[in-house]
Amino acid sequence: MGGVDMVGAWLKECAMEFSANAEDLDALDRQLGDGDHGTNMLRGTETARLIDLGQADSASTALRRVGMALVGTVGGASGPLFGTLFLRTGAAWPSPVSTAGVARAVRAGLDGVVQRGRAEAGDKTMVDALLPAVQSMEASAAAGEDLSVALPKAAEAAERGRDATRDMVAKRGRAALKADTSVGVIDPGAVSVAIILRTAANHIR
Ligand code: ADP
Ligand code: MG
Repeated sequence: MGGVDMVGAWLKECAMEFSANAEDLDALDRQLGDGDHGTNMLRGTETARLIDLGQADSASTALRRVGMALVGTVGGASGPLFGTLFLRTGAAWPSPVSTAGVARAVRAGLDGVVQRGRAEAGDKTMVDALLPAVQSMEASAAAGEDLSVALPKAAEAAERGRDATRDMVAKRGRAALKADTSVGVIDPGAVSVAIILRTAANHIR
């Protein structure tokens, strides 16, 4: 049951981070969209944190429950996208965990997000943080690196991807309506992906 405990501990920190960052995320989304991304993610992660994971028999089940909670409570464009990320990653989650298994799982999550949202690299979305993280995990798997090395590296890749969205022109979602003034602002969804990966790196062992 260690896997379920791990998801629970990660969720707690994740909800705390979204609580600490909600106002900043709303501010970024005010510049690119309608100003609710932080509020949305905080609502979603708070709901997910309160799930009774005692009934989950594996980390896979726990992650899928988190995905369902996000789909049900985050709303907006990001609810289905972050929900799908967890549903697909959870469905493919390895037991026991391994770098190669986690790489396959996060690739499945990314594929789900792209199928739903159709964003390509460079469109200034959450994908611009998620794709480099997945690629980093895959490189770590190929190099035979332990998860304790691979996950912090993936979190760093997501953070670099997040920062790179600053110079991109928005092409998806509400932000596309503000494409002309979007350059110079970091995409809030990419910030959320970086938070999720950084907190995961602190908990997945
Ligand atoms: P809404 O845009 O409905 O208000 P949020 O503000 O919660 O939803 O989420 C906005 C974030 O969702 C953006 O910062 C972006 O990262 C992500 N996003 C929006 N549309 C897409 C898409 N088609 N593909 C991938 N990510 C997207
Ligand atoms: Mg919004």
